[in-house]
Amino acid sequence: MDRTIDIFQSLKIFENRQVVVVGAGVSGLAACRLLLSLGARVRLVDAKADLSQDILLQVHADPASTGLTLEAGAHTPEQFADADLIVLSPGVPVKKLSQVLATVDPKRVVAEMEFASWFLSAPVIAITGTNGKTTTTTLVGHILRHAGLSTFVGGNIGTPLCDYVLSDTPADVLVIEISSFQLQNCRTFKPRVAALLNFSANHLDYHLDMEEYLSAKLQLFAQQDHGCLAVAPETMRKELEARAFTKAQRDYFTADTEFACPGLPGAHNRENIAAAWRMVRPFGVTQEQAREAIAAFNALPHRIEPVGEAGGVLFIDDSKATTLVSVCAAVKSFERPVRLLLGGVFKGGDVASLLPALAGRAVSIGLFGAAREVFEPVLAPHFPVAWDQTLEAAVRRQFAQSKPGEVILLSPATASFDAYTSYAERGRDFARVARALTAETLEVGE
Ligand code: ADP
Repeated sequence: MDRTIDIFQSLKIFENRQVVVVGAGVSGLAACRLLLSLGARVRLVDAKADLSQDILLQVHADPASTGLTLEAGAHTPEQFADADLIVLSPGVPVKKLSQVLATVDPKRVVAEMEFASWFLSAPVIAITGTNGKTTTTTLVGHILRHAGLSTFVGGNIGTPLCDYVLSDTPADVLVIEISSFQLQNCRTFKPRVAALLNFSANHLDYHLDMEEYLSAKLQLFAQQDHGCLAVAPETMRKELEARAFTKAQRDYFTADTEFACPGLPGAHNRENIAAAWRMVRPFGVTQEQAREAIAAFNALPHRIEPVGEAGGVLFIDDSKATTLVSVCAAVKSFERPVRLLLGGVFKGGDVASLLPALAGRAVSIGLFGAAREVFEPVLAPHFPVAWDQTLEAAVRRQFAQSKPGEVILLSPATASFDAYTSYAERGRDFARVARALTAETLEVGE
């Protein structure tokens, strides 16, 4: 059977078209590979001035022979003036390009994920939301595989969708995580099943306001029709129905789920599980298959992940918690008293919204690195608050004050870039300190 890409290739639709790919990350490079296979002329542009031309070798062994070029440094209108199509990498918000794209027809600008979706034939489950996307996307793939369906899981996580298109691996279902940046430039994307897991303040440093952020998320449902399914939280039913947000069938979920999952604690994860079940049901997965698969699923790294125990004190790495809502979700997941570590590059929101979740659960707050001025004034009237320059110093301070039976929780409510290259590096640093404290505690005990 012909793959859709074979048909595009034989029709030569992209042949000799000038395409500009913005962003030389994994998805941008994958888009270049796909475009070259279609015969397009590709200009890769990236704002990083010090980017080496060698990066093109990741696209093609002999870039010059394909006409592939890289222009590194500040974007200019000239780079885009002759483009038939402009493909944006996931990390590139279109608004940041508004000046250089001022004279470009917006219909020529497409997100990498939407571009890839033109070449897909298998049904797509697409998942967005402020929090829980990666956990739920991975869980949905896990359940489908357990039920015997061949499944590709990717998009924002793992393999870019453009690379999947190029790979010759047919799948029964494609499960795709998609962010609001990508959705802003989606006009044709039509997932068979689309899910909005939740919605709260995030990326307000980029989106104009909550309305713009929600509009971006709702693009996911815009092209769906009666044969499709839209999954969303019961708490958003009124707001969504008032907007006539989709023509798809609707299925609203709550945290009330019949499936147990010891590896995923907390009410927020029960919501993720409930949403996942609604997404897999249309593909014929039985309740029994779902029950077995969910019971065997474990938390992903850096998402409420236990990383050590010293002197009866549990260390939990939730470094991926970059929003206030995910911090509340983590704190509420524990029966034990919590010492909470917060700090880093704050992305916006009302810090006071933490207070109801912290009341009666948090015994102290350890601030570290940036954003002290954001957290301290709001939290210090209610809890003992200390600040340290580094995460290690803050962990050690909290541990010195802790009692057996407590939790030291890194759930920082921030991006990590003040001190780390990623949330994963921040989480690994926390685990390192937890291991060191475990070893030191054992030595003292000997
Ligand atoms: P995303 O891909 O949307 O960032 P992740 O699954 O990577 O989501 O989880 C990110 C953070 O959000 C983690 O701290 C996790 O514990 C938390 N989280 C997961 N699901 C939810 C949810 N439904 N509501 C609130 N927070 C959640």
